[in-house]
Amino acid sequence: MKTEYILLKEAVLNNNCPECYSTESLLLSFKQKRQLSKLFIKTKDEIIESMDCKKCETTIFPGRWTDDIERVYNYHKKTINSKSSGIQFTGLFYIVVLLVVIITGGLYAFLYHPELFQL
Ligand SMILES: [Zn+2]
Repeated sequence: MKTEYILLKEAVLNNNCPECYSTESLLLSFKQKRQLSKLFIKTKDEIIESMDCKKCETTIFPGRWTDDIERVYNYHKKTINSKSSGIQFTGLFYIVVLLVVIITGGLYAFLYHPELFQL
């Protein structure tokens, strides 16, 4: 199973980095986790937020946020549209289901109506 992150929103903040004090280096991102397998795609409802400084390459955890960062974060958080969670089936899933139905049907016919298979 492959894990993928859907990028919902990414924004560069004007705030100063609490670590290196550079401006316009903080990157706030909202992501949603999705698991892909050959048969289905499962989207989680949990949203993963992260803030990283592109200058000093530090992850800024909420404990280090200033009030200003918090305010900007809350603003962005309100604007994101998350994808609905749940399971989506892939085309292969339906092919497998169809094959199972055909095989089961064939087997049933073979066991209960063997005359159908006599030439
Ligand atoms: Zn920094």
